[in-house]
Amino acid sequence: MRLLSWSVILFLLGCGTSSDIENDTPREWAIAIHGGAGNFGKEHVDENAQAQYSASLNSALERGEQLLQSGSSATDVVVEVMKILENDSLFNAGRGAVYTSDGTHELDASIADGQTRNTGAVTGLQGFKHPIDVAKSVMDSSSHVFFSGHGAGEFAKSLGHEEADPSWFHTDKAYNRFKKAAARAGDVPQPVDEKKGTVGCVVLDMHGNLAAGTSTGGMTYKKHGRIGDSPVIGAGTWADNRTCAVSATGWGEYFIRTGVAQDIHSRMLYANSSLSEACRGAIFDEMGALGGDGGVVAVSSTGKISLVCNSAGMFRAWSSPDGRGVAMFTSDGKGTVEIH
Ligand code: ASP
Repeated sequence: MRLLSWSVILFLLGCGTSSDIENDTPREWAIAIHGGAGNFGKEHVDENAQAQYSASLNSALERGEQLLQSGSSATDVVVEVMKILENDSLFNAGRGAVYTSDGTHELDASIADGQTRNTGAVTGLQGFKHPIDVAKSVMDSSSHVFFSGHGAGEFAKSLGHEEADPSWFHTDKAYNRFKKAAARAGDVPQPVDEKKGTVGCVVLDMHGNLAAGTSTGGMTYKKHGRIGDSPVIGAGTWADNRTCAVSATGWGEYFIRTGVAQDIHSRMLYANSSLSEACRGAIFDEMGALGGDGGVVAVSSTGKISLVCNSAGMFRAWSSPDGRGVAMFTSDGKGTVEIH
């Protein structure tokens, strides 16, 4: 019943740009996920597509809930949930990733473990089904934290990660966007309203540990070798048990320039900001003030959940023992805050 009520309330409210679930007692577990942000409103995502997004987000969350309730670790939950999203061609990560200007797929992913403060990331990965899994291997099975391109592929191969042909990543939607961009002969990135579909997951597990992960194909028609925020620890991903776990999505260049994920952590650690204050400060006052757009999903060490964006849309969902919710659009335009 409770699960239903969150979704219904948010649907009726029109799903605002930020959602905070405040609670004085620490929660046993919490999880939040996103499926990308952009300047898309209800008019751009028809009811059928909304239902598809909602179903995909809910089934990923369900798996996360099961794992968390059975005591799985935060990092394992992040990987399992994100593999579901990477397999889902609705999103710009793994299968369904956008095309580069060379007509290929270059995948980025990162993961952060709040307990150990270890991290793993890959950028420009080609031909592997689950970049988030490779990022976890970088964290667990190497003495490094970040692999790129060919070296990332060699590393993934040496550990037996599942490979896939280019056709596995293809979707007509991503290819049509590539063709549209190519026709414009743009070496400029796609307009903001098309930058949606990156996936991310933040988790507090029953053992009190936080973890975060982010995975993406990047931006349509990005130049070969371009790196966005998603694999950059401190920009797109962060986890520290003292404060929070964060996964970002949006215009990556701006998230790198303002170090969004680490900014949120630092505000909490050094300025004693609450999770929601920290997220709003980083998104609205810093990243947004420079002209970027997008958002974050974040959980705190006490299980608070904050989902903040300054774009018209962000596919996002969350769950805790108090209930589950899904949101997609803003009710009152860019840069506004709605507390739930
Ligand atoms: N942040 C990603 C990037 O810039 C794209 C996105 O989140 O939509 O690569």
